[in-house]
Amino acid sequence: MEPELLFDGMSFRVFRSGEPDCVTVEFTDTITAFGGIKRAEISGKGEINASIASMVAEYIGKNGVESHFIRQLDSRRILCRKVEMIRLEVVVRNIIAGSMARRLGVREGMKPENTIFDLFYKNEDLGSPLINDHYAVALGLVTYGELTRIYEYAGKINGLMSSLLKDVDIELVDFKLEFGRDGSGNIVVADELTPDNARLWDMKSMQKLDRDRFRRDMGKVGEAYRTICGRLRTVLRK
Ligand code: UDP
Repeated sequence: MEPELLFDGMSFRVFRSGEPDCVTVEFTDTITAFGGIKRAEISGKGEINASIASMVAEYIGKNGVESHFIRQLDSRRILCRKVEMIRLEVVVRNIIAGSMARRLGVREGMKPENTIFDLFYKNEDLGSPLINDHYAVALGLVTYGELTRIYEYAGKINGLMSSLLKDVDIELVDFKLEFGRDGSGNIVVADELTPDNARLWDMKSMQKLDRDRFRRDMGKVGEAYRTICGRLRTVLRK
């Protein structure tokens, strides 16, 4: 019997798992941009992302960040705890790029002294608008206490991954995370860090090694993802 599809995010699909209170996340070769208007297949991307997601989740887990990740099942699939998703996208920025550069007319590549945390309300009908803490609480999405925990986890992941990636000459420019609540109501990271949802620049050449290569028609998308996976492997899987 085919497992029941719970959610199709195009670049990943979530299925009901045979294990109680678990879901299976399958990474696909599909890449999208601009809310799915632009779409293509990148051969091997699903396997690369499953591998990156697993290495990163194991690493942050060992360093005290609760995530939904349990284990990698096969080349494309990971087993995760089923959580109640919070309708927020949390973006952490170390270098100004993308929507922030466009919105504020700031040069892409500008490096502020501080780390920036954005909240977007996950609502496709509204184009997932940028909001703030007070909007998120007013909308009933989270409590202030939960936001404190969310920023704590997001900041911790940023610190861990920025320094790990620096060791392999990659700048963690920005990334998006989503969070959920487990059965006891605890906040857990319910998202994967991959080049689909992070900006990763080679520190020497300043080449982009992430989904921007697809958004901006730069080519060599699969090669970029493979580079990230290969470099992470040198520090995370001997
Ligand atoms: N991002 C994502 N999903 C989204 C929107 C953004 O994974 O729906 C990631 C994106 O890849 C980047 C970071 O979040 O690493 C910040 O994206 P930004 O707000 O700059 O928006 P974009 O330039 O992608 O429109």
